[in-house]
Order: sequence, then structure tokens, then C-alpha cells
Amino acid sequence: MSCIAKVVVDISAGKEFDYRIPPELEHSVSIGIRVNIPFGASFRTGYVVNLVDRSDRAELKSIIGVADAKPFFKEPLLKLARWMAEYYCAPIEQAVRAILPGAVRKKGAKFRERLFVQPLAIALENTPVFEGLTDKQKLSLDHIVKVGQSSLEDVCAFCNVTSSVVKSLEKKGYVSIVKSQSLREVASARNVIRSEPLVLSSEQKTALDLISAAADKQSAHKSPDAAADNLSANSRHVVLLHGVTGSGKTEVYLQAIARMLEAKRGAIVLVPEIALTPQTVERFAARFGDRIAVLHSHLSDGERHDEWHRICDGRADVVIGARSAVFAPVANLGMIIVDEEHEHTYKQDEAPRYNARDVAVMRGKLEGCAVVLGSATPCIESWNNALTGKFILAELPKRVDDRKMPHMRIVDMRIGAKDGKKSGIFSQDLIESIGDRLERKEQVMLFLNRRGHSTSIVCPACGFTEKCADCSVTLTYHRTDEKLLCHVCGKVTKVPEKCNKCSAEAVKYSGVGTQKVEEVTKKIFPKANIARLDSDTTTKKDSYEDVLGRFRTGKIDILIGTQMIAKGLHFPNVTLVGVVYADMSLNIPDFRASERTFQLIAQVAGRAGRGDVSGEVIVQTFTPFHQAVQAARRLDYKGFCDQELEYRKELLYPPFAHLFVLTFKGRFQDRTAALAGFYSKRLSTALEGKALVSEAVEAPLAKMKGQYRHQVIIRAKSAKAVRDGFRTLTASIKPSREISCVIDVDALNIM
Ligand code: ADP
Ligand code: ZN
Repeated sequence: MSCIAKVVVDISAGKEFDYRIPPELEHSVSIGIRVNIPFGASFRTGYVVNLVDRSDRAELKSIIGVADAKPFFKEPLLKLARWMAEYYCAPIEQAVRAILPGAVRKKGAKFRERLFVQPLAIALENTPVFEGLTDKQKLSLDHIVKVGQSSLEDVCAFCNVTSSVVKSLEKKGYVSIVKSQSLREVASARNVIRSEPLVLSSEQKTALDLISAAADKQSAHKSPDAAADNLSANSRHVVLLHGVTGSGKTEVYLQAIARMLEAKRGAIVLVPEIALTPQTVERFAARFGDRIAVLHSHLSDGERHDEWHRICDGRADVVIGARSAVFAPVANLGMIIVDEEHEHTYKQDEAPRYNARDVAVMRGKLEGCAVVLGSATPCIESWNNALTGKFILAELPKRVDDRKMPHMRIVDMRIGAKDGKKSGIFSQDLIESIGDRLERKEQVMLFLNRRGHSTSIVCPACGFTEKCADCSVTLTYHRTDEKLLCHVCGKVTKVPEKCNKCSAEAVKYSGVGTQKVEEVTKKIFPKANIARLDSDTTTKKDSYEDVLGRFRTGKIDILIGTQMIAKGLHFPNVTLVGVVYADMSLNIPDFRASERTFQLIAQVAGRAGRGDVSGEVIVQTFTPFHQAVQAARRLDYKGFCDQELEYRKELLYPPFAHLFVLTFKGRFQDRTAALAGFYSKRLSTALEGKALVSEAVEAPLAKMKGQYRHQVIIRAKSAKAVRDGFRTLTASIKPSREISCVIDVDALNIM
């Protein structure tokens, strides 16, 4: 009998604490249960993560009591948390917190209780007398008798009475009012028309069979322990579904899940937050009804709490959600699907800095379930895993029903600029093409990956640009509310009337954002209905769905937006997509700039021509011969990857090395730089021959929210060596109190 519990406490300590289990709690303490414990001079709650016989410590305090009747997580999820803490160099309590939503963990989290009204026998008699009742009371009682049990709120709303009317009926003995648990219903998951499985194309069928085979094989042998180091080693339970946009990947997911459910196993579908529109949810709800649970960031804490418990109790066994849904407590999990697996939104940018795609692969390994990674443009790492045979590859090279891929055209924006003609936002080509579509009553999407109006304001006299005082970026001008906004820290300032440096009066706006595109489009096409979608227009909960709804029903002709409109959306009447400025993502100082640009163009292009009329894509660029732009024009994913892989191999970048980014942040530039330099030297000595350690350099985003930022970048074949070196170093020296150090494993963002 284990008599000691290892407990993770809800504070940052990075370790587990031993507590004695008193005999009276022997039967209620188990792994995953929340317990109350004495901690220092106070009391806290913690989670039991292990039960053992002995402890290294001589004197142990005892657990005071258990906080809940049931454990919050089971063994496999706990193993996943341990792996995550190890792999991402995060403290164990952060990993445990990641697998449990705050809405479930927090104090006072519980089911909502509502009051329900029930008619009593006397009210149901054939000839009730209803003596001494007011008109309102009679009306309400009539209704209650007719509908039977219903919530007090509903009765009041329907009869237009206050609750005191119904309560007086209770006093008179006609009805009873009882408290009962009621689930907060997550909108859009219910009441949809059921859909039937489609007859698959032969490619779809092959893909489905490969996926099912992986699932069957995987369920036969669960791997008891995860090799923390090599995530993709021996990952034959993973199928990479590479299918062009509109090739019917979603239908394959749906049928793969249906097979899982037949085998009494559940499934998780991860989608990028952006794609979590009712449109996506509806497709799953139409197939699986109220077996689905939805988890996304727009849920209230209460809704999230209820959805989580529906999953935990087995009432919902198909979970569709964003990043953190990878931890959904589905019992007997059979499959995890990661749609648009290349998306950077799967990477969490606070500790633990996990990538949900990679966590899914590991969870699949631990729980014996299959993992499907789907994308039209898989990330280079996944593609390489398919090439080397670590992942199984399934391909859907054609659109459904032989619908053509859109026709791609590149417009060289340097022409015109060279002629001295002021080059506007739109080329003549794009303007004419938009005009054509409007005439034919077809729809247009215009894409620019930058919100706001002008990306900076520049003094025409002295060239001074307005910068954020706390961050090393220029301020973006937002015309709708006449303000300058820092896109890094969110600080708002007034638009200056004069240059802050030389006092010249004229203010020149330069660089283009979506607001400007909207303004110009309205000028050129005054009769068209135009709408814009970016994070400025979607601050309200429903505005995103509202705009998309109006676009779908044809009330909007031209939709302008940021990456928000790039993915996953299906609008058959869109026949033209314009990429206003393709170079935007190319000019970022990041080795993934090419990959991002290729993915963005290909994804945006995927919005065109999804109906019966074929589509066209116009890409405006100042670097028409760039490899990423050219490959995107041919929609040549493999060609792009071949070249990119060669270049990554030569420079030892992922997938040929693991990438660690250490970012030091502090109020004083010299001290921060010095500490980063110190770490760089120590690590390069410690990791000699095992890793490439960069010198300490100023981060591309050199200052953020008043803190200076310096980075050390490490590339290594073996991630374990780096983690060990890093751990040894931080064990002996702590970063100072005023300077923090963040370690990002498999970093995607090196700003
Ligand atoms: P993807 O997820 O690859 O972008 P979708 O699954 O959205 O593609 O499919 C695009 C369109 O084709 C959808 O309207 C879908 O209903 C339809 N579709 C998919 N598979 C089939 C099929 N086998 N037969 C007919 N239509 C299909
Ligand atoms: Zn700022």
C-alpha cells in the first residue's frame, strides 16, 4: 500500500512535494485527485501525480483532505504532462495546469443550477377549479400544465410574468419548484440538419483506409513510455494527409471518426482558432449530433466547464476545438486529427510552450491512438517525416469533382513604380479583374496580412517615424478611430499634428494596412458592398460570424481581410482572390519567411473557385522571382519543399536540427546583454560538439513593453543534450531577479 503522495502544487516551484496519506484518506486519494495540503505557513490545493512507498525526506506533512470526489485526470494524460515538462523545459505544475482548463480547476467551478417548475397532480385534474387565482397566475398555470416540466425562466419569458407569480402558484400547491443541474448549451452544436456520408473518390478511399489501418494497428500496441527525446521516432501511427484545398479532407476526417465511433472509441479534432467558425462546427454537428463537444476561446468559463465534464463523463465523444483541446479527457481515445497542421497558432506562446500538433503525436503514442495531420501545405518538418517514412503519407492531389485549381497570376508591382507613375495599392490588372467579377455577380476576397490603415507615419521633412516608447516598432495608424496603435503592446496614442522631431506640419502616412485597402476599394468601386475582417473588426463576439454569414448569403461583394480570411472557409461564389502585397511575410527576418509566404499564398488561393465557376488568383509583389512566390504561382508544394529542404540542410535548420531560442528580458540594456552573453559562452563550452550556440544578439524585436530583449539561438541534432546542458547551467546560476530568461523549444517565432 502506497502511503505517500507526490503532489504538484499550484505555484511555480518546478517540483513535486511529498505528503503522507493519513489512513482515513487511503481510499479516496488517487492519481489525478485534487487535495488540500499544508504548505509553508498556509494551506493550498495540489494535484496528486504519483503514489509511492517511501520519501527521501524524513519529516512529512499529511494531506488534510480531498477537494473533489473524482480525479481530474488519468494516468496517460499525466504521462503526457510529464513528457511536456521534460521536452519543453517547463516546470511540472505548468504542464499539469496546461492539461486542465482553468474553468475546471478554479475555485467555485461547478454546474449551473436552475429552477424548474413542475405541475402537481391537483393542477392536472380534469376540471381544476383554479379558484382565487389572478389572471396572470391562471395564464401561467395553463401554460405549465400544457408543457409539463420546464425552467422557471422559460415559463416567465413565455407568459411574460415575473417569477413571483409562479412562486405564488407553488404556495397554493399547484406546482412545485425544484433546483436542478442544467448544462449551458454551446451554441451552434445543436439543431443542425443531419448529413449523410458522401461516396468517396478513390483517392479519399485510399486515404481513409490508410488512416483506419493506422488506427487498428495502433490500438493493438500501446507504448507504455514515451521516449522524450525523439518525438517522431517510430511514429507509424501518424498519417500525414496532404490534400490540396478543396480536395475533401474534411469528408475523410468525418468518415474516419465514424469508424472510430463504431469501434466505441472517441476522437479529437483540432482546428486553428481562426477556423472555428460555425461553418466548421456545423459540418461535424451534422454528422455526429450532440455527441460533439466544442472547445474554443469564445466560450464562457461556465460553458467550458460543462463541455469538459460532458467529455469526461462520456456524454460527448467527438471533441472539436483549438490548441488546448488536445488535452480533452476523452475516454478510450481512438484518433486525434490536426487540421491545417502547419498553423503557427498550434504553438502556445507562454509556458509550457508546446505545439499541439507535436503533443498530439505524443498523446497518440501514449494512448495507442492514430493521429492524422492534414494540410494543403504541411510544415516542412512534417513533410520531411513523411519523406523519411516516419509518418505514413496519404495524398489527395485533386479537388473534388475535378474542380480546377485556380489560375494563378503574378503582377510585378515594380513596373509602374519604375515609370515614375505613383504605384497605387492596386495594379490595373487587379482593378479590372475585380470589376469583371462584380459585373458577373461573383464575389472577391482581398487579402493583406496587416491590420490598421497605415503602417507608419513618417515626417516628409526630416524622415522621423513615430515609434512606440516601450517597444522597438513603428506605430500603426488606425483611421476608424483616429489613433496610433502599437501592435506589440497595444498602447494607444494621439496622432501628432506636427512632427515630434522637427515640428514640420505635414504628416505623411506610409505603408498599407487593411483599413487603407478598404478605403481605396470603396473609392474605386463605390457601388459594391464591401466589408473588412481583421482583429479590429471582430472584437465583438459575434461580428466575425456575422460578416461571414453576410458574405455567404451574397450580401457582401468584396471581403477584405488579414490571415483571418485565408483559411478553411468555403464560399463557392468566390472566383477572384487578390493578394495585395505578397512580400509582407517575406521581409520578416526569420528563416521560415519563405515557407510562411508560400503557405499564405497557397492557402489564400484555396479560397478561390470552390464552386462551379473556376477561380483566379492575382498576387501582387515587388519580388516576382522569389522562389516562394514562383513556387506558389505553380502551386508546386513539392518543388518548393525540395528546394527549401536543401537550404535548411545546408544551414542546419529544422527539420535537420532542433531549434532553441533563449530570450533574456530586462529593463537595463547593458545588463541584459551581458547576461545573455554569459549564457552564450557557458553553453557553447558545455555543448561543444553537440550543438551550435549563437553569440548573444539583440532580438529582432529589440525592445518590448519597456524591456530590452537579447537572444541566444541554439541548433542541435539532439534536443536532449541541449536540455541537459541548459538544466545543469540553470541549476548552478539563476538569472538575476531583474532579468528573466525564457526558453522556447522548437521555436516558431524568433522575434
Ligand atoms: P478540404 O477540407 O480538403 O478543403 P472539403 O472537405 O471542404 O475539402 O471538400 C470540399 C467540398 O467538396 C465540400 O463542399 C464537400 O462537401 C465536397 N466533397 C468532399 N468530398 C466529396 C465527395 N466524395 N463527393 C462529393 N462531394 C464531396
Ligand atoms: Zn508598444
